[in-house]
Amino acid sequence: MTTKYLFFTGGVVSSVGKGVTAAATGLLLKERGFHVAVQKLDPYINVDPGTMSPYQHGEVYVLDDGAETDLDLGHYERFIDIRLSRVSNFTTGQVYAEVIAKERRGDYLGGTIQVIPHITNEIKRRIGLVAKETGAEVVLVEIGGTVGDIESQPFLEALRQMRNEIGRENVFFIHVTWLPYIGATGELKTKPTQHSVAALRSIGISPNMIIARSDHEMDDSLRDKIALFCDVEKRAVIPMTTTRVLYEVPLLLEKAGVGDYLVEKLGLQSTRKPNWKPWEHLVAEVRRKKPTVRIALVGKYVELHDAYMSVREAVRHAALALGVEAEIAWVHSADLEKGKGWEDVRNAHGILVPGGFGSRGIEGKIQAAQYAREHKVPYLGLCLGMQLMVVEFARNVLGYEDANSTEFDRSTTHPVIDLMLEQRAITDMGGTMRLGLYPCVLRPGSKAAECYGVSQVDERHRHRFELNNAYREALEKHGMVMSGVSPDGKLVEIAEIADHPFMLGSQFHPEFLSRPMRPHPLFVGFMKAAKQRAGIS
Ligand code: GLN
Repeated sequence: MTTKYLFFTGGVVSSVGKGVTAAATGLLLKERGFHVAVQKLDPYINVDPGTMSPYQHGEVYVLDDGAETDLDLGHYERFIDIRLSRVSNFTTGQVYAEVIAKERRGDYLGGTIQVIPHITNEIKRRIGLVAKETGAEVVLVEIGGTVGDIESQPFLEALRQMRNEIGRENVFFIHVTWLPYIGATGELKTKPTQHSVAALRSIGISPNMIIARSDHEMDDSLRDKIALFCDVEKRAVIPMTTTRVLYEVPLLLEKAGVGDYLVEKLGLQSTRKPNWKPWEHLVAEVRRKKPTVRIALVGKYVELHDAYMSVREAVRHAALALGVEAEIAWVHSADLEKGKGWEDVRNAHGILVPGGFGSRGIEGKIQAAQYAREHKVPYLGLCLGMQLMVVEFARNVLGYEDANSTEFDRSTTHPVIDLMLEQRAITDMGGTMRLGLYPCVLRPGSKAAECYGVSQVDERHRHRFELNNAYREALEKHGMVMSGVSPDGKLVEIAEIADHPFMLGSQFHPEFLSRPMRPHPLFVGFMKAAKQRAGIS
């Protein structure tokens, strides 16, 4: 069978939910029995987002194989409930690096290297890899950025070529746009969409479907207008009104007929009827008025919630499963150092310290951990949040006043968190951390083991530093339990405080494996303790 390709392009402005739309569309097809795979093409020149600031890029999403990817891959994994691999995300930087390496090897036999065909061929090869590696019947490909960006031109050109090479009947273009609302006249405008479709057509691509996101309901006459001006069937003009409930998007697309339309136009034979019951139930649960559990998320990039996308979703998944509403207070750790923001910490039923890099705001996070320990407030530390929980314990329980991670203080007399041996000689920043899935053996009787209900788990990592084994005994003697370790026992993966309702930190990132229908056990354990603290039975 020929692989079918769905290409998602963006128009008008970014941040209109192209990634969520692609993810939800993938679910529509999976629900119809198709084997789907997803890929995101990022037009920037970085090799991967691993070295980019979360302020620039939002969260770095880590896959099983250790690929550091765009946060849209998190949407794909959460909506479609699949596990993706490295081939599912590539950047202009990777494409050029590959082509230039080939050129240096002499692979091009003296030819002149050009965007067309050398760069576009490499783009097409990488798109083809997904079907090859996964055997998927339908591959959904999202092109980052918006049409008209100088960086995305080679990508769009490659897609145009693919349409001719693999046949028009196997390729379908979905253009996701935005309809601005003019308050004075109270109307939605289609002109920017028309312009963006015109830009797309000028490079030889005519969209087969337009998904028009807007903050207000679109009436039928606007659908007619977009159909007429943009040369698509009216059935293929899909209104996408902003919803408060993220996980409602698949239901809205289904209701608009997207799934059936795609099956028809791609000439697919669906093998089963979609079952939307679990999703309808989920959305109804989100909408239902529920008692509130307040979580203080103490981080460094809190102004930009996208920087903690998976953490926020994992908290929400766990809250939903427990029948409560998670109200997240975003606390800037640097504020805590100045005595600000403590209101939110004191009011919280649970304190969460997520991952991070660099020294800004570190002391504030340590103070938050101390507050959680002393006041017996449930605490969940993720990666850096685990390391700082250990630092705090070493300082204030063991009395090692200047205990620290050598990431922040190279000359500390008590480096309780230190660089991993393998990391010492590495000078490159990109892709050199301990990345991806590693096994973790749980200690029977610990909170971690109770949460998971199994004896061994595999979790995703992204870090350079590690609990220093020289301090393990001393920490354990004072009541810290190393409740998860690598199978050889050499690396501490989970630490918890014995005499506390729930104070646990993981060296890995459990947030990447939480799914709306399958909340992550550690988040559930944490939220359960927070719910108890809130006095909700
Ligand atoms: N900066 C820490 C390290 O490299 C923690 C990393 C993280 O939180 N992802 O080990």
